[in-house]
Amino acid sequence: MTTKIESLLQKYSRPGPRYTSYPTVPVWSDRFGATDYQTALRELSETPDAQDLCLYVHLPFCAMACHYCGCNNAVTSKTEVVDAYLDRVAREINLVVDLLGRGRRVVQMHWGGGTPNTLTARQMERLVQLLGDAFDLDWRGEMSIEIDPRIASLAQLQHIRSLGFRRISLGVQDVDPQVQQAIGRHQPEALTKSIYAACRDVGFESINLDLVYGLPLQTSETFRQTVQAVLAMQPDRVALFNYAHVPKLRPKQRHIRTEDLPDVLTRFALFDEARQRLTSHDYVWVGMDHFARQGDELAVAVQERRLHRNFMGYTLRPASNLIAFGMSGISELTGFYAQNDAKLGRYQTTLDQGELPIARGHRLTPDDQRRRAAISHLMCNMELPLATLGEAFDAHAAHFQDMEADGLVDYTADRLVVTAVGRPFVRNICMTLDAYLKPGTSQPVFSKTL
Ligand code: SF4
Repeated sequence: MTTKIESLLQKYSRPGPRYTSYPTVPVWSDRFGATDYQTALRELSETPDAQDLCLYVHLPFCAMACHYCGCNNAVTSKTEVVDAYLDRVAREINLVVDLLGRGRRVVQMHWGGGTPNTLTARQMERLVQLLGDAFDLDWRGEMSIEIDPRIASLAQLQHIRSLGFRRISLGVQDVDPQVQQAIGRHQPEALTKSIYAACRDVGFESINLDLVYGLPLQTSETFRQTVQAVLAMQPDRVALFNYAHVPKLRPKQRHIRTEDLPDVLTRFALFDEARQRLTSHDYVWVGMDHFARQGDELAVAVQERRLHRNFMGYTLRPASNLIAFGMSGISELTGFYAQNDAKLGRYQTTLDQGELPIARGHRLTPDDQRRRAAISHLMCNMELPLATLGEAFDAHAAHFQDMEADGLVDYTADRLVVTAVGRPFVRNICMTLDAYLKPGTSQPVFSKTL
């Protein structure tokens, strides 16, 4: 007999955007280029009361390649390769600051990758100096870095903390040795625990651990042990990401045997059991796939409805002006998205020619802005005031009535509320509002070739 959850999975389980942007990246155009981005930066420079900035720096290098990885990265152990990349980041920062003006205040910064801790101490200091010369970095803000525990050390963590980073995120994924072998990432649990303890010892104020469910050979039993290991460490935050198996797009994933992947029902159970264990141990479920300990700023923001979402994930601040540096970095300025070239060679060559390496982007229409606000509100608050979309909401009423009949949403007098049953399907609920999706699919109505 088909259970309720099986029938919901059959009906709704299809790949969907994470909606860190709306419209999503496949919709953006390569007709949006460096000139458009320059215009957006100039407009921002002329706005005296513009909000403080957020920065993202993409550091694409990794010491080793993991089979499951979906990031834009490159494997190298050569410091001169990283130095050459930082030369280009320096050029990019200068080009941006020439348009924007020097000394703008930055209240949120994230170094992601790749693996930012492949940088040597000297390279990290250089990057902090470059950014500090160009911007007014407020180190009391949300300043965070991702690290790979396999190449971290106590001395490195002390150095990162001394630079001013207050938050740190560690990749864990799964502690089971067989799962680790299947994903090409050997990371003994004892090593993760010792690096976690070192992060605490050197005084990071917030530590996040990343887990991934849906990986090869994961079972309820193995993943329960992973979650248990994480709970024993008591991180401030846990991210629980869904593995997307797309070997045509990510050739490294061809190392993963399709027959080892858990089926849809098992994947759902992996997430749901982890969610139950985390929320029964004092963690608040944040948005779609994050958890924060009671009292953590993110948990408080959920309770006070101050949660926001941008390319860096869930955040405490609205990011109307997020500037990204590095290959594939995505900037979000009021009314615009712009993405840097995701090919390392082209990113560097374009900067060598003195141009900003924008590969594509999108200028939001008024309709885009309304839908973006609605989708972001849904992803953060699991509800949607009906007035957010105005009359445009009526066009979706039939879809929402269908979801109401399936128990995914409820209507109150003035809002649509995502139910407990519907919350794991919040992406699908948001897809209803996505004007660029072909009805009934997760494919964009159109996509641009780059
Ligand atoms: S998962 Fe992290 S460490 Fe592994 S290849 Fe990807 S970015 Fe590098």
